[in-house]
Amino acid sequence: MRTSYLENDLIKLRREFHSQPELNFDVTETSKKIESILRSANIEVHNNIGRTGLVGVIKKGNSNRSIGIRADMDALPVNEANTFDYRSKHDGKMHACGHDGHVTMALGAAKHLAEKENFDGTAYFVFQPDEEQTQGAQAMIDDGLFDRFSMDEIYAFHNLPGMDVGTFATRAGTITGSESLFRIELKGIGGHSALPHMGVDTITVGTQIITALQSIVSRKLNPAVNGVVSVTEFITDGTENVLPGHALILGDTRALSPDSNKIMEESMKSIVNGMAQAHGIEAKFEYRTRTNMTINSPEQARFASMVAEKLVGKENVDEDCEPKLFSEDFSQMLMKKPGCYILIGNGIDGSCGKTLHSSDYDFNDKLLVTGSSYWSELVLEKLG
Ligand SMILES: [Zn+2]
Ligand SMILES: [Zn+2]
Repeated sequence: MRTSYLENDLIKLRREFHSQPELNFDVTETSKKIESILRSANIEVHNNIGRTGLVGVIKKGNSNRSIGIRADMDALPVNEANTFDYRSKHDGKMHACGHDGHVTMALGAAKHLAEKENFDGTAYFVFQPDEEQTQGAQAMIDDGLFDRFSMDEIYAFHNLPGMDVGTFATRAGTITGSESLFRIELKGIGGHSALPHMGVDTITVGTQIITALQSIVSRKLNPAVNGVVSVTEFITDGTENVLPGHALILGDTRALSPDSNKIMEESMKSIVNGMAQAHGIEAKFEYRTRTNMTINSPEQARFASMVAEKLVGKENVDEDCEPKLFSEDFSQMLMKKPGCYILIGNGIDGSCGKTLHSSDYDFNDKLLVTGSSYWSELVLEKLG
């Protein structure tokens, strides 16, 4: 294992990040702490990229070959239910997605590479804000991330509960889905609940639309591909004895290919418009793709698996895992650079086996040495 931090130091650091969670782009203290650790290892730091993002640069030798490693820094607006002593000190904020661990593993590798290893090229460690609202990667790109730091390729990983601790999984092609938000506004004529024939009730039409939307995945998408349509809110201006004249239906969809996303959008639009016309109601439909699919380049996916196999053995690496329908804004970086997104098992027991984003989840400290070593090996394989 290639790490110069002792395991206990990594655990201590991870728990410090865990107890001080910050949200979205407001990760100032986290960012400052990362900067000071990088500087203490004599690593060149560039900050305020995409507001609170930062990049650590480790250049050795003369080659212009380069590689990027990205770690996300933000937490979630969740009240932590865990009772251990390093639980969140900030009410309503929690590292419930394990980004505290992602940051620690990247720092462990950066420090080790800077202080203990020789290679020929440049390793960039990219610390990104606002992954959870999926705006941070694009903000860093818009702020010149790839113009200022010319990386040949970029990698990121995410811990995954439910997968054995320390096992790796990735795949060539789409690994996480897109997320699109939709908004359906219905305008009918509200009125007395005993006189429905005098108006146009938006609940009756809205519920038919909601039911019909569920036929899209089963009847419009090729059964060999996956997708999800989820209605998450149905808001009306009705009251106990007043039929609503106005309704809002909100939700999101997930797709694993641009084609499926297009089919879902077009099918939703025709269901909404057709149903509205049939009932003589006014409808407005909006659809916005907020996060794109994360698409791994085949060569980099193979390389990422090969490095994992060397570290933990072939039997602990799935190089052709099922794609996941959650979304990840590392997708934006992979639209600009070849690279790979890798999953690392967080375990199946206790708080480490709880679903990401749940209030009793915790990042698995057993991953810290493996994860740090993985990033070191990846850089050394590429630039060694
Ligand atoms: Zn998350
Ligand atoms: Zn996450």
